[in-house]
Amino acid sequence: MIRTRFAPSPTGFLHIGGARTALFNWLFARHHGGQFLLRIEDTDRARSTQPAIDAIQDGLSWLGLDWDGDLVSQYSRADRHVEIAHQMVASGHAFRCYCDADEVDALRAAAFDEGRALRSPWRDRDPANAPDGAPFVVRFRAGDADMLVEDAVQGEVRWAAKEFDDLVLLRSDMSPTYNLAVVVDDHDMDITHIIRGDDHLVNAGRQAQIYDAMGWKRPVFAHIPLIHGPDGKKLSKRHGALGAEAYRDMGYLPEGLRNYLLRLGWSHGDQEIFTDAEAIAAFDMGGLNKSPSRLDLDKLSHINAHHIAQADDARLCELVTPFLEGLDGQIDDAALKADRIRNAMPALKTRAATLAELAQQAYFLVKARPFQLEGKLAKQLDETACARLNRLFTRLVETDAWNDAALASLLKQFAESESVGFGKVGQPLRAVLTGGAPAPDLALVMAVLGRDEVLGRIKDQLS
Ligand code: GLU
Repeated sequence: MIRTRFAPSPTGFLHIGGARTALFNWLFARHHGGQFLLRIEDTDRARSTQPAIDAIQDGLSWLGLDWDGDLVSQYSRADRHVEIAHQMVASGHAFRCYCDADEVDALRAAAFDEGRALRSPWRDRDPANAPDGAPFVVRFRAGDADMLVEDAVQGEVRWAAKEFDDLVLLRSDMSPTYNLAVVVDDHDMDITHIIRGDDHLVNAGRQAQIYDAMGWKRPVFAHIPLIHGPDGKKLSKRHGALGAEAYRDMGYLPEGLRNYLLRLGWSHGDQEIFTDAEAIAAFDMGGLNKSPSRLDLDKLSHINAHHIAQADDARLCELVTPFLEGLDGQIDDAALKADRIRNAMPALKTRAATLAELAQQAYFLVKARPFQLEGKLAKQLDETACARLNRLFTRLVETDAWNDAALASLLKQFAESESVGFGKVGQPLRAVLTGGAPAPDLALVMAVLGRDEVLGRIKDQLS
């Protein structure tokens, strides 16, 4: 069975690059009917707080990337990592190194001068000669042959033997290092494919050595180029939001961000928009790009707009609520507000790139009267326009049918009866009804607001 994993170190949030890595692993597993596991690399105890771990799980849950089984804590598996290090010592693939920090520095400097990585003298010494009770680390005995890794994205990657040092597996306090812990965990968790950032490419070479030493089957590695900022530089805070939750707070839908991240580093012909089912069906390693991709918020908004337009109205009404709450001066009647927004949603949702934008556009529906019209809007309401609005007011009082089709034809007939183009009626009417907000079709707005509110909003500006 195909098994992938996402193995973040807690940083306080789900990094957007991590979210993409998780997405690719999730899609690959789901495509193959396999499993996607979550392991928290919580060995840095200071950073591995419960809130930091929760933030990762919350981010993944929000994005809809469900993992199989229980979350695995790397820290809790330390005994097993130590056990494997001891096995490697017993088999001669690792050894105790008694060099102190100064000696290591000197050895490293000398090795550097010779153009090779550090090899400890203790690889060939008898530990019986070690000073009594002296502290030691456990090092991997680096091999003498070149290392070759077949990477599913990078192709054949080769390292000369001299590039690998005798890697520390256990520190002097016997705590396991990253490369040991990762290999042991991935092996024990039966991970078959590892998709991760190419900042870990060199670790793949080191990890492959450990797999080989243990006689374990290597997983398939797929190292994807990192996400860059719009300027082509490595993504950092100055490019804007780094955490997935910040995108949620900006009003992107999880499926919008997911679709965007999918396309950020993976392609399938020129298809941009994917439903989950399409993404799962199409996802393959072959589509992973070799060159870094750049974060592009315009493209994210474009893709998100598409997903907002497709989203369920009731769900959008719920999601838009917190964004609306931030806008002040609204009517008090919550049920009435909900009603208006729900009724307008089919039209509203085709015009917004984010939930924040959707809230801005829905705002006029729930804003408390009277509106203060200023500048250009106030100017639109000159004497002629007001007189015309007054005559329209009477027609609106008299009409029996209050629905958008009937109101659309009423407005059209009214403009004809006034012998003016529709704009002469529409513009001032839009100003009084929406306070100048861009709005979908006027007749629809009137239908959603209801007769009393429409008449009230017109009256407000005429008196
Ligand atoms: N914990 C590592 C990180 O957050 C990832 C390790 C891996 O995927 O092998 O960068």
